[in-house]
Amino acid sequence: MRTSLHQYLIDNREKNLEELLSWLKIPSISTLSEHRKDVKNAAEWAEKKLQEIGFPEVELIEGEGHPLVYAQWLTDNNQPTLLFYGHYDVQPADPLNEWHTPPFQPYIDKDNIYARGATDDKGQVMIVLAALEAWVKSEGKLPVNVKVLLEGEEEAGGASVEAFVREYGDRLTADAALICDTHMNSVDQPSLIIGLRGILYTEIIVKGAKRDLHSGSYGGVAPNPIHALCLLLSRLKGENGRIDIPGIYVSSVPVSDEEKDFWHRDAEALEKRLLKEMGVEQLVGEKHVSVHGRLGIRPTLEVHGIRGGFIGEGAKTVIPAEALAKVSLRLPAGSRPTEVFKQLEHAVQQKMPKGYTVVVRNLHSGDGVAVSPENRYINAAAEAIAEIYGVRPVFMREGGSIPITALFDSILHIPVVLMGFGLSDDGAHGPNEKFSLNQFYKGMDTVADFLGRLRN
Ligand SMILES: [Zn+2]
Repeated sequence: MRTSLHQYLIDNREKNLEELLSWLKIPSISTLSEHRKDVKNAAEWAEKKLQEIGFPEVELIEGEGHPLVYAQWLTDNNQPTLLFYGHYDVQPADPLNEWHTPPFQPYIDKDNIYARGATDDKGQVMIVLAALEAWVKSEGKLPVNVKVLLEGEEEAGGASVEAFVREYGDRLTADAALICDTHMNSVDQPSLIIGLRGILYTEIIVKGAKRDLHSGSYGGVAPNPIHALCLLLSRLKGENGRIDIPGIYVSSVPVSDEEKDFWHRDAEALEKRLLKEMGVEQLVGEKHVSVHGRLGIRPTLEVHGIRGGFIGEGAKTVIPAEALAKVSLRLPAGSRPTEVFKQLEHAVQQKMPKGYTVVVRNLHSGDGVAVSPENRYINAAAEAIAEIYGVRPVFMREGGSIPITALFDSILHIPVVLMGFGLSDDGAHGPNEKFSLNQFYKGMDTVADFLGRLRN
């Protein structure tokens, strides 16, 4: 990496950290309407920062939802264009009493920054902003053309950015996209993400009698929707972790030998880490599938909540008329959530005990993504990581979903580089979210180096 760039980033560590802290102090919680003004403040913070870096075109795009921040700097027709996407909104901070320090008063110990949004995603966006600034300040200009798109609704469904990409896709024309919103395997074994699972989120509603009944007068003959729902759920996924929905395992994700080899090598360490993080004594799921496979490419079916009957204090002998379960499936890239919804509906009708009516509702869904590891942009990212970390990254999958990735893939038709600097114990979305300072600074070096490698 160029010495001048590297030196600039070292000299400005303090300044970059201070700037991140000021951004983290803004409680830009996109799902809570009382924070609407804060969300806008966080957008304006980013707008101002992009102007300071020197972007000649910076725009706050306001619509019905939270604003988008868009900036572009087109320096040279002969160079490729990189589209960087990130988000400046954060998850709600509750339960507040589980935080050791207040979520919007960033706290630094020697290794980490603790604050809501530290790793997801302000800290990671700041890495890219700092790398861009380093190029401008130390080399006089950006090495390639850069477009920046920041949204404030990632944690709230992302309607505005989706509409923008669908409607103004031509403004976003680029050769590749960069997203820094994922995590690495570990500091010693950096990784790049080449696959994200899709999601299908549903509600299953079971109805029995026309009204709640007394268990003394009707117990023994009355249908009980809660019990029927439990039977149904256990038929959809048994104790062995296998999902019994015909068709669900049809699409399989190709996994390279190199990746399988890493899964094998890392299996024991990963299992140990997961047991510790979750505070449990054994993992569940399909025993014949590797842990990496279970987390990355196999479909999942999880129950998030069950509602029905009496849950107040004391005893009430009611047989409820209705029960509801929130059920989501994570799906490998290649599975179409709309298709899977039909398969689920069919399986539910087949497996439902007799004497009930059941309805399945699709609340939302998003496609998974598989990125080919064979393109110059991912190669450039892998080389930059190898240069800064001294170890070549492994290609991995992440079990979560970043809906914008599928949109970039399907609408803009450009390769997406998922180069994240979070660590698995950062606790994104949970209390005491943190970001490693070491990753913060190494990330800047890596992204700055990456930008230089994109030049023709
Ligand atoms: Zn995020």
